[in-house]
Amino acid sequence: MKASCVRARCAGERVKAVRLIFLGPPGAGKGTQAQRLAEDTGVEQISTGDILRQAVKAQTEMGKRAKACMDAGQLVPDEVVIGIVRDKLGSGDCANGFILDGFPRTTGQADALGAILLDFSTPINRVVAFTVDDEALVARLCGRRTCTGCGAMFHIDYAPSKIADQCDRCGGELVQRDDDQESVIRDRLTVYETSTRPLLDYYSSRGLLTEVSAGGSVDSVYAALKEAVAT
Ligand code: ADP
Ligand code: AMP
Repeated sequence: MKASCVRARCAGERVKAVRLIFLGPPGAGKGTQAQRLAEDTGVEQISTGDILRQAVKAQTEMGKRAKACMDAGQLVPDEVVIGIVRDKLGSGDCANGFILDGFPRTTGQADALGAILLDFSTPINRVVAFTVDDEALVARLCGRRTCTGCGAMFHIDYAPSKIADQCDRCGGELVQRDDDQESVIRDRLTVYETSTRPLLDYYSSRGLLTEVSAGGSVDSVYAALKEAVAT
């Protein structure tokens, strides 16, 4: 189904604004798919990881607080990320809907999100859980390169830029994230298993979860995603 159909169905049913959570381990492709769906539908992508990295770069108080956790592959305290998401959801940016990419990651965050969305009367329509096996995740994360200018995502083997280390979109520099070293990646996968995986049951028991097998190409995953969010 084309994204325009997803949009039309959402508009036609009125209540079906695009309000999504993307769950899945690091490297599952949440950011890649969220960027694409956000561009196609005009809704806001909210990546707590991106917001935290910007705060680290700008050396804000929040950034200084988050940096050690991020470098170690651990989660930033719940109250920090809940504050980020509350501010973002309350801003005009999310009037057309939103895709939460990388949030929630704990049941505490999920409970807080539920309360915030109840206040705003904007319930989640669907939680998409992307599934990929661990070795593929490690290969994806080790080869990930991110544009320092526009945030576009590349991969040295699976989605290489036309010119090495240079973004195809804006010409910005492509860099490897500090936490995309294999030892930190393994720790992040462990954190996912212990802290975030329980959210699959949390949202499944609320009838919101759809799993999308995300081991295939970016295009094939995107096709499956559009089907998942259109139903
Ligand atoms: P996440 O946001 O879940 O951590 P990303 O979207 O950043 O994952 O993807 C991680 C890396 O894997 C990036 O380098 C991206 O280009 C690459 N990637 C994403 N989806 C796929 C896919 N379906 N096949 C191969 N590589 C992918
Ligand atoms: P990501 O860009 O989603 O891979 O996140 C990178 C890092 O940012 C994570 O390893 C955490 O340290 C931190 N982070 C991002 N989102 C959250 C969240 N919802 N809760 C706690 N920490 C987060």
